Amino acid sequence: MGLKINAALQYNIFILAKNLLFMNLSTFSPTKRMPVLFLGHGSPMNAILDNDYRRSWQALGQDLLANYPKPQLILCISAHWVTRGWYLTAMEQPKTIHDFGGFPQELFNQQYPAPGNPAAAREIAANIGAGLDQAEWGLDHGAWGVLKPMFPNADIPVIQLSLDWHAAPAQHFAMGHKLRALRDQGVLVIASGNTVHNLGMMGQGAPYDWNVQFDTFVKNHIEAGSLAELAKFQDLGAVANQAHPNIDHYLPLLHAAGAVDEHDSVRFFNERYDARSLAMRSVIWEART
Ligand code: ZN
Repeated sequence: MGLKINAALQYNIFILAKNLLFMNLSTFSPTKRMPVLFLGHGSPMNAILDNDYRRSWQALGQDLLANYPKPQLILCISAHWVTRGWYLTAMEQPKTIHDFGGFPQELFNQQYPAPGNPAAAREIAANIGAGLDQAEWGLDHGAWGVLKPMFPNADIPVIQLSLDWHAAPAQHFAMGHKLRALRDQGVLVIASGNTVHNLGMMGQGAPYDWNVQFDTFVKNHIEAGSLAELAKFQDLGAVANQAHPNIDHYLPLLHAAGAVDEHDSVRFFNERYDARSLAMRSVIWEART
């Protein structure tokens, strides 16, 4: 028995595919394809300490501004905004959120006054199937902690995309896939989390074996270009549970990986372990020129 698809359904499928592949934002003009970043952010203190991580983010921001058009928008997926369903920040001026405790006052004094872009948020939300947050969130430390070193002028609009806590890992990867078309519209997609993140096991000394094993699983799939396999991380069983007792810091990686084009080149930086139970591996995917 053949499958019959009527003309109206065919048209709807066409429109859906068109929206996914050619997302045109009326407020932006097409650009050279922008990179996709996954940044391991680690301790909130990295936002203000003069250490190798912060220096790498400073250098990355300068490199991007030298080699690409200035982004028309930054879309940031942070480990620290978990919601029921997907949401985009849609306020004119997102507030800087200090979503941590027990750190020096200097960290609480930090502000990142980048504007939002409610019109772009509405357009993107309609294309990807997300809700709009007009007032509640803003920029959490997973976002501003890396953006402030990268773009200290805070003059590029930033929208955050939340993590839907009830979505399966493969759905997070699929959401990243929907973001891919934004790269041709001057949008810089930055995902901020950690490839390994177990705060309860932090200590001093060499990384745990499960830290190295899980980070190597991530590294190998990224190098092989088998990015959809990253969503199957729970197949690692106990190692996955130790690497991510809570998967919030892993999910941003799936968004970034979903936004990658198979022809992109890939490069790692900050390939280091921190406090035994964190991995700081960071990734940049770029279109080959
Ligand atoms: Zn974090």
